[in-house]
Amino acid sequence: MNPVRFSEEALAGWKSILLAEAAGLRKAIDLDRQQLDGRADSLPPAFDDGRDDAAIDALRDIDVAELERRSTQLAEVEAALQRVEDGTFGVCLSCGEAIDSQRLHAAPQSARCIGCQSAAEPGRAEFSSL
Ligand SMILES: [Zn+2]
Repeated sequence: MNPVRFSEEALAGWKSILLAEAAGLRKAIDLDRQQLDGRADSLPPAFDDGRDDAAIDALRDIDVAELERRSTQLAEVEAALQRVEDGTFGVCLSCGEAIDSQRLHAAPQSARCIGCQSAAEPGRAEFSSL
């Protein structure tokens, strides 16, 4: 089982799409990290009256959530790149059927077909890949 879905040429095309995606995500993650570090450095020293701490924490939480979301996406893209190397890209990890090509074009990092995806994690796509 483990059908090879794409030709070498097609896999090379998906690989360059995924590599570009990974590069963009890495850049965004670096920027997020820099912003988080910068914000920590720029806090005024006498900032202990407690009034704005909650607001700053909330902002930081948003950034951290964004950073984690991007890190998860990057891991999914890297897993997809590995499947390109293995020649199993575009094949559902759960059922072994071909993943719909519209779905792949929308989200090349998809590891599962729509049926398996929604069966595994109803409504929680972001925790879906492993
Ligand atoms: Zn499937």
